[in-house]
Amino acid sequence: MNIDSIYNGIVLDHITAGKSMQIYQDLSLDKLDCSVAIIKNVKSRKRGRKDIIKIDQEYSVNLDVLGYIDPEITVSIIKDGKTIEKKKVELPEQLVNILKCKNPRCITTTEQGIDHIFKLADPATRTYRCIYCEEDRKIK
Ligand SMILES: [Zn+2]
Repeated sequence: MNIDSIYNGIVLDHITAGKSMQIYQDLSLDKLDCSVAIIKNVKSRKRGRKDIIKIDQEYSVNLDVLGYIDPEITVSIIKDGKTIEKKKVELPEQLVNILKCKNPRCITTTEQGIDHIFKLADPATRTYRCIYCEEDRKIK
């Protein structure tokens, strides 16, 4: 795989330096049957240092997962060697089965098979609230 260019795939750019491994794990990129390049600590005019991930196949990325890890990421979809679409991720309004409620008395802890659902309570502090017990979770 050529690190500089991919022909069909996606590029996750402007990742906060050091967060690429968390993204790799949370998106389960190790399970993909294609080349995945993680480029760490790239000099960036805008942000000092950044990480980049390149995935060498068509891949439908979970933007909610990206948005909650790092809302600064840009996603480029590459087709036939050209960028056909650029997406900005955002802090998602709702997280389903991404965060787990830590309240031991919450229904999601005491009963099995219930979706863990959090709603964005405060974007400035990146705080999410469990819709069942209203326990707050802040994301780093
Ligand atoms: Zn809860």
